[in-house]
Amino acid sequence: MSDPILSVQGLVKRYGEATVVSDLSFEIAPGECLGVIGPNGAGKTTTIRMCLGLTVPDAGGITAFGLQMPRDALAIKAQLGVVSQMDTLDPDFSCAENLLVYGRYFGLQDAQIRQRIPALLEFASLSNKAQAKPGELSGGMKRRLSLARALVNNPRLLLLDEPTTGLDPQARHLMWERLQLLLAEGKSILLTTHFMDEAERLCHRLLVVDHGKKIAEGAPRELIRRYLEPDVVEVYGSGALALVGSALQALAARVEVSGETVFFYTQDAKPLMQALAAYPQLRTLHRPANLEDLFLKLTGRQIREDA
Ligand code: ADP
Repeated sequence: MSDPILSVQGLVKRYGEATVVSDLSFEIAPGECLGVIGPNGAGKTTTIRMCLGLTVPDAGGITAFGLQMPRDALAIKAQLGVVSQMDTLDPDFSCAENLLVYGRYFGLQDAQIRQRIPALLEFASLSNKAQAKPGELSGGMKRRLSLARALVNNPRLLLLDEPTTGLDPQARHLMWERLQLLLAEGKSILLTTHFMDEAERLCHRLLVVDHGKKIAEGAPRELIRRYLEPDVVEVYGSGALALVGSALQALAARVEVSGETVFFYTQDAKPLMQALAAYPQLRTLHRPANLEDLFLKLTGRQIREDA
């Protein structure tokens, strides 16, 4: 493997008694998209903040582009692009002015930035909104403007904290397409997400974190194969819960309940589907195991206090 773009080794962060990031290590290769998934409060945002030099780790090291954080923080930030969860666009400036002002933080000349602005707006599908202020934009447009702004310094690595949370399906798809283009250009991406379809679609590799610790790491499909039976049968409807502990349970390798739904995980769903035919009042859904199943298996089904 070529030298990693980002290398995080043994990262620890404590707040008072609580250890919110615990001995976390990972690397990102050039051109790679690494997804960090985990329940609310797992330490994802804190990890990103440490990579940005905004939060000081209690232990561990962060190296980016061969430079060391925090010693070379300025040189590292010059090659980073960031989209945070919060909208940090300046409401008093137009879209074009937001890009201009942000570019100045990197010491870029106005003429240089102005030259880049049309391409950045076009990338964000906002060419016709150059003079509009953020308050006039939809949620998806604002997020794309934030992405365009993060690209003003032509970064090698993008840190994206839940880039599509709150967007409608069309806006999410457009964002995914743009991120794919950036990956195709050779940029690297670290992203956090709660959307398992997003993680599967965009990420070459995933880091599953919980309580600040890495609990699994690998390519999405490989993780599914490693931890799950290939077939899932979801059963819901009146009387579904009574199936737990019944003879049908023996037809599955594992059974889980979430709300009103019973999940049967199995190597072969055929015998189970045949047996379920005797229960016409129940609704069934037979599907391949997916990342959501993996996430729930590894991190549990209970709602987190931070949620
Ligand atoms: P995630 O992004 O995975 O939801 P966070 O990194 O935001 O998780 O938070 C991890 C834990 O650290 C949470 O329990 C949160 O309450 C706590 N935390 C985050 N920032 C601070 C802070 N500045 N002071 C105290 N606790 C914090």
